This record gives sequence, structure tokens and C-alpha cells, in this order.
Amino acid sequence: MKYVILVALLVFVVLLIIAAVRAEKMKKKIIRRKPAISFTEEEEALYAQRLSEIVKVPTITAKQGEERDLTEFRKMQEIMRKQYPLVFSKLEYVDIDGSMLLRWPGKDPNKLGILLMGHQDVVPAEETDWKYDPFSGEIEGGCVHGRGAMDCKCTVMCEFSAIEELLAEGFEPECDVYLASSVDEELGGFGADATVAYLKEKGIRLAAVMDEGGAIVTNQLPGLSAPCASIGVVEKGTTHVKVIAHGDGGHSSTPPANTPIVRLSRFVTEVEKKKPFKKHMIEVVSRMFEDAAPYMTFPMRLIMGNLWLFKPLMMVVLPKVSKFGEAFLSTTCAFTMSGGSSAPNVLPDEAYVVCNLRPAVHQNREESIEVIKKYAKKHNLIVETPPGHSASNITDIDGKEFRFLKQCLNKAYPDCVVIPYYMTGGTDSRKYEAVCKNVLRFCPVRMTNQQLAAMHAANENIGMSAIADGVKFYKYYVQQRAGADYKAK
Ligand SMILES: [Zn+2]
Repeated sequence: MKYVILVALLVFVVLLIIAAVRAEKMKKKIIRRKPAISFTEEEEALYAQRLSEIVKVPTITAKQGEERDLTEFRKMQEIMRKQYPLVFSKLEYVDIDGSMLLRWPGKDPNKLGILLMGHQDVVPAEETDWKYDPFSGEIEGGCVHGRGAMDCKCTVMCEFSAIEELLAEGFEPECDVYLASSVDEELGGFGADATVAYLKEKGIRLAAVMDEGGAIVTNQLPGLSAPCASIGVVEKGTTHVKVIAHGDGGHSSTPPANTPIVRLSRFVTEVEKKKPFKKHMIEVVSRMFEDAAPYMTFPMRLIMGNLWLFKPLMMVVLPKVSKFGEAFLSTTCAFTMSGGSSAPNVLPDEAYVVCNLRPAVHQNREESIEVIKKYAKKHNLIVETPPGHSASNITDIDGKEFRFLKQCLNKAYPDCVVIPYYMTGGTDSRKYEAVCKNVLRFCPVRMTNQQLAAMHAANENIGMSAIADGVKFYKYYVQQRAGADYKAK
């Protein structure tokens, strides 16, 4: 027995030494090169002004079931027509019930086109602690403030500005270049559905689609001090499950055992405690860590760069140390709504909780719902499942479109580490899987952690220099990708 323990210990020490040597060898430093993009002070001010003007228009998404009113969207589009006269006069324009699709025809009709997208709608701004009026578009302290400044009007402004500049410079794309902007991403992306249906009907397929998603963020991963550009290559699904408990109702002065809310509470506690979804590290997640590892501090590099050894440890530790850790490894379940009787002294004859599930790639919507059903049955509960969807497809991270974007980012933002990213939220872009294999969810804009936290919250804002970089990046990317020198490698 002693001998077995000794051998096991010896093997572990040897493996640890191998891992440490590998970690030391893989170490890379960020090389301070001159970025391939730059902007002037005048341009920076102009872009901020453009963004401010569209932030001022409260293009708030219609509520579920509410009639869509396009008045504000039309106002925003009128402003954009003035801001981008060349885009709106030279590109073919299709209005799809408020959602915009613009096509810049390429010289070679045999080449598949690329599409840049971003939504016009914003979530409401009902929080009380806004420093500036959320629809003032205030430009202050080097930032543009307001609802939509980041999600997602900065993306729209950057993309349209880039194409406007390329048109002004007489650039002629080899392949078609599209701009798409929907009016209801925050509600479920029906505009994107209709846009994709239009493209399909025309028989149009695309080589690459770029939408919001990842951005350039510092402190993205532990032990990584360099800014990190995370390109979303897959997004989790989303679905709600309503779990209902029935009872006999009655007066609350003589409560029987196991009333509806008690059973629901047991169910909620059990699901929360057991976290019953399958844990698995998909390749995107391991690549996310492995690609960042060379730039991390030694202890993190040792672990992240040697997943062949430390993956089992990571599977246990990751969900415990980070809420993202759990979301990267499994379907998540958030209890978001609940209800019981209509008076404090009445036992409910029906009570419910709503579980918001984010199905993982390896455990799709149906399988994730089955897990919930199993626990619900145990507590004598009924399950209702309105429509939802599974996780998206995965864009090939070794494919040429991902690699090309990465290459452009390395040149434009040489101080950044570029990694693939598993998105826990959703975007319009998954709808484009029907016409494109390479959906890249990334907005080339630097964001602070405060700015990230302000997404769908109070005090949303974005840096002026960040959006100026964003414009220049899209311009650079289109120039390279749709330029005559582009070779499909
Ligand atoms: Zn968005």
C-alpha cells in the first residue's frame, strides 16, 4: 500500500514538473508595436457627436405583446441619413419593417459577402440613479453617456462611420459588404429573423457576420493583466420553465402540510443546491484559457496552460470561484419570478416559480428541461415550457474567418490578447447561422469594468477614444477582408 502511494506521489511530482516546464516555455510578452489604426482629435469628437445624437432618441424596445411603434426608430434613421449621406445614397437599401439592410455590391459576384450588424433598440432606462439623463447623450469626461451608448448604438455608429469613410475614400470592395440593424433584438430578434428570411429568399450566403458580443476588456481572466479581446464564437440558449404547484387553498389560520409554496421552496432549494446539470468543458472554453495562458502570471499559466493535467481540478474549482465559471461549464438555472395567492391570509390553490434556463451546448434545451421536470415531479409540481431555443452553433476557431479577424485585431490592437469566447447571453447574430457558418460576436471597442457593469443598468457610457478606435477597426477590417489583397488562407 505504502509503495502504491509513493509511486502515485512520484508520478504526480513528475507531471507537475512537466507542467511547470511547459508553463515557463509558453510564456509570452505583449510586444509593443505601433497599432495599424489611428484617429485624430477631430474624428474622435465627430464620432462622439454622432453617437450622442442617436443616443438622444429613445428607441426603447416594445414590451412583449405590445404593438410596435416605429416613430422613434424612424427619427433615429433620419438622423443617420444625415450622418452617413454616402452610405444611404450609394448602398442598396431595404427596409424590413423598420430593420435596415444595406448592401454595398462587391466587384466579384462569386465571392461570398460579409455583414456587420448591431441593433437600434435599447432596453428601458427606469433606474433612478442615472448621473445624466439616460437620453441626453451627454458627452462628459471623455465619454458618451446614455442608454444604448454601449448596447448597441456604439456598434451601429462605428460600423456606419467606417463604411462612410471607405466610400468617401473611393474604396471598392471585392465582395459584397452588408450593414444590418434590427429594431427588436432586446425582445427576441424578430427583425433579424425577417432579415435572414429575406437573405435566404434571395439565395444569399455570407462568408462572415460580425455582431455585438465580446469586446476589449481588462481583468477578463485571473492572472491576465493585458487587455483581452474576446470573440464570441458560440452563445448559450435561453428558455423559461414555469413550475406550478396546486393545492386546496383555504384560510391561512389552519395550514395543512406541503402547501404549494412549501413544495416549490423545496424544489428551488434542491435545484439550487444540487446544480443538477451536466458539467463539461467544451473546446471553446479550454481554448479560451489556453490562448490566454501564455500572457498570465506563472501560477495561472501553470494551471490554464496545462489543462491536460488540471482540467479535473478546474471542473471542480471554477464553478465555486466564479459565476461565469459555472455558466461556462453547464446549463444554468435562475429563478426569476414567483407568485402565490392574492392575499396574505389566503392559502394559494396555485403557486408558481419561473426558472430561466440557459442551456449549454452539450445539454440542449430539451435535455435541460428534462432535468427540471425530474425534480418538479419529485415535489409533485407541474411544468409548463413556453418556446425557447438551444445554444447556437460553434464558429470554427481554426477556420479562416476567425483567424483573419484575430490577425486584424493583433495588428490594430497589438497590446491585446485575442481569445475565443463562450457567450452566456444572447444576440441577434445566431439567426444568421441559416446563411453563414462564421458568426463572430465581437465589438472592437475597449470597455472598463464599470462600463461593462452598466450594461442594461444605470449610467451606461462608452469612451470617446474607444469608439474612435472602433470606427477605425471596422474600417481596417473591411479594407483588409474585402480588399483586393485578401486571400482565403
Ligand atoms: Zn445588445
